Formats: sequence, C-alpha cells, structure tokens
Amino acid sequence: MSAIDDLATELSRLPGIGRKTALRLTYHLLRQPADQSRRLATALLTLGERVRPCARCFNLTEDELCAVCRDPRRDPGTICVVEQASDIGAIERAGEFRGTYHVLGGHLSPLDGVGPDDLTVGALVDRLTEPGQPVREVIIATNPSLEGEATALYVQGQIGAIGVTVSRIARGLPVGGDLEYADGVTIAQALAARRTM
Ligand SMILES: [Zn+2]
Repeated sequence: MSAIDDLATELSRLPGIGRKTALRLTYHLLRQPADQSRRLATALLTLGERVRPCARCFNLTEDELCAVCRDPRRDPGTICVVEQASDIGAIERAGEFRGTYHVLGGHLSPLDGVGPDDLTVGALVDRLTEPGQPVREVIIATNPSLEGEATALYVQGQIGAIGVTVSRIARGLPVGGDLEYADGVTIAQALAARRTM
C-alpha cells in the first residue's frame, strides 16, 4: 500500500469523510510545504499524549481536573450526566447551565457489547455517596435515542435511592438525534423543561 493510500485510508475513517474527500485532502497536503504536514502530525500526536479524562467527571482535559471542575464559579450542587465529552461543548455553547458534569463514556448498547461496566456509572455513584458531597440534583442528558433512554433509566436505577433529585432533560430534542449537534436554544429549553424521574 502506498503512502498516499495509507493516509487516505486513515482520513476516510473520520466521521463525515468519504474516500473521495480523503483523497482530496491527501493531495492537498502533498501540495503544502512539508512544514505544515509536520505541524499537523505533531498536533495529532500531542493530542493523544496530553489529553486525558478528568479525574472527577471524565471530561477531557490536559490536567488532573477539567476546566469545569476547577472553576469555583460552577455550582457543584448540580451534575449534568452526558454520554460523551463532546456533549459538554454543546451544552456549554447554550450558555445556561452553571453546574458540573459527569461523562458516562457512551450508552448501553448490548449489540455493540457495551454494558454497564463500560460506563462510568460506578464513579458517579461514588461522587454522590462521598461524605459531605454537595450534589442536590442529577440531570440526565443522554441522547434522545433508544440507547440514550435505556441508559438514562439504568443510571436512575443506580442512583435513585441515594436521595438526590434525578431529572431527565425534556424531549424537544429530535428523537434519535445527537445532543452534540443540537442548537443552543433547543438544549437550553430541554434543560429548563427537565422532569423529575
Ligand atoms: Zn471534570
């Protein structure tokens, strides 16, 4: 396999990039100064080396704790539970939520072999049962898909007896859609209209 094919194959694994676009990007890079490709390669390597999950909420960070967990202005009394770290960006862009987060690392999906132990629900239970923990409410903001709903029910089952309010963001997000791609107004409304589970 040639170097051109190699890179095009790797690029075509990225979401939204088909084989044709991958080849176009590859030829584009070939026409650039070698310096530029080297910077891109370095940035990709650095990403993998530096970025890791937050020790508390599993958001992505280059430090022990993520920017949200380190921010003293955030309300530690509310935790918004999301599937992926990228969902946090969508909620932050909506600009309404001032609490903290917990990233599950996906959703339950028996067909794909993703079970409860593959998610960070245990760590969430630990956060909620620490002595003196400040949490009053957990808002479950998993995606409005079948798997997202099943995951929300599972999380509720695990934390329902702890004594904090558990709520679910309102529908209004397109069913089967992805929180990550919803617009800010829709996310803000879904958060505001959340229901206790
Ligand atoms: Zn964090």
